[in-house]
Amino acid sequence: MKGDHAPLLSVEEVWAQMREAAATVTECERIALPEALSRVLAEDLHAPVTVPGFDNSAMDGYAFSADDARGVRELPISLRVTAGDAPGTLAPGTACRIFTGAPMPSGADTVVIQERCERRGDTLILPDTWTPFANIRRAGEDLQTGDVLLKSGQRLTPQAVGLAASCGFAEVSVRRRLRVVVLSTGNELRAAGSGPLGSGQIYDSNRPMLNALLARLGCTVRAGDPLGDDLAMTRRALREAARGADVIVTTGGVSVGEEDHVKAALEAEGTLSLWRVAIKPGKPLAFGRVGTARFLGLPGNPVSAFVTFLLFVQPFLKALMGETPARLRGFPVRAAFARNRPDNRREFLRARIVARDDGGLWAEPHPRQSSGVLSSTVWADGLVDLATGRTVAEGDIVPFLPFEGLAP
Ligand code: AMP
Ligand code: MG
Repeated sequence: MKGDHAPLLSVEEVWAQMREAAATVTECERIALPEALSRVLAEDLHAPVTVPGFDNSAMDGYAFSADDARGVRELPISLRVTAGDAPGTLAPGTACRIFTGAPMPSGADTVVIQERCERRGDTLILPDTWTPFANIRRAGEDLQTGDVLLKSGQRLTPQAVGLAASCGFAEVSVRRRLRVVVLSTGNELRAAGSGPLGSGQIYDSNRPMLNALLARLGCTVRAGDPLGDDLAMTRRALREAARGADVIVTTGGVSVGEEDHVKAALEAEGTLSLWRVAIKPGKPLAFGRVGTARFLGLPGNPVSAFVTFLLFVQPFLKALMGETPARLRGFPVRAAFARNRPDNRREFLRARIVARDDGGLWAEPHPRQSSGVLSSTVWADGLVDLATGRTVAEGDIVPFLPFEGLAP
């Protein structure tokens, strides 16, 4: 494949090819629920109990029977029920002091909140108006026994952990962690902490960034020192990385310069499946395999590495983990910029969302869109997704992909 002359692939074409190559790992492990945050569930969870398990008060207040209280101003208070009590029985024609989460006593079907009531000793003075059957949370309002509360393939968010706990799950079955090796390449790179920079050197920002992105996805990451621009060394590193890894991710060295050895090393040690993607930033992208390990080669420019990770590596890893694919969740915002010259690549602009007085959300692009300006990715909330050939007038609606929406 001649890198420079290979056809430019669209984002969708890349996804389709990657999907075909993504065989889900089948191994699972049972782990304690609190440890399962951000892991991919490997089983459907059915509710073994009804939640809530009993009718209970939604507020602090007074409970009574609506029938008994119709046309009456006062009710004697004969019972007090707090959260955690067993449900009692309310004597007819009386009221119950009740607290949030306390089980409704039998005979009561209405709660009036305490702020609307007056109390004189053991007598409840009702407000002029109240709503029958109000302020009660019904048994099974959240979940009925047997309901699927979480599905296999769902990534566990903090709220999903809470939901599973609400049904009493202490352990869940999740897909095993993917083993990923991260290699950064470039003679100029020094690892932070390895001493001051020599002339012409830069700190390796991609490897820690990729480690962090991968850790967030629940991967086990192995990473060595940056690799020099040397074919033999790169080949050896790929061979070693392939042992025991599910995926190898590299940055840098995938262009067509004489000092770019990743592509040649991959062709020598494994197979290369694709090469150039019609996006900006991040045109060069390599995909293939070394032995049984999948290979993804990202561009060296840190912004390109970040964007191509979010757009390609992350969905690919999610597919390997058996996660049910989510669509890219772009939402419409107004462009706080104009773009007259169309680009022949789909462009992802780092942008910030600003709420303006007109009530709209406006996307303000970072003034420096160079793929070396990593500070723009920290400044931005996400990416404006501009289709190939698109021109934009200020105020046009454009799709915005929040970094949060691109997060696992
Ligand atoms: P390359 O893709 O190897 O041609 O690199 C493109 C640009 O990204 C060059 O300016 C590199 O110095 C820079 N670069 C490559 N790898 C890294 C890295 N790991 N951290 C920071 N910058 C990098
Ligand atoms: Mg390089």
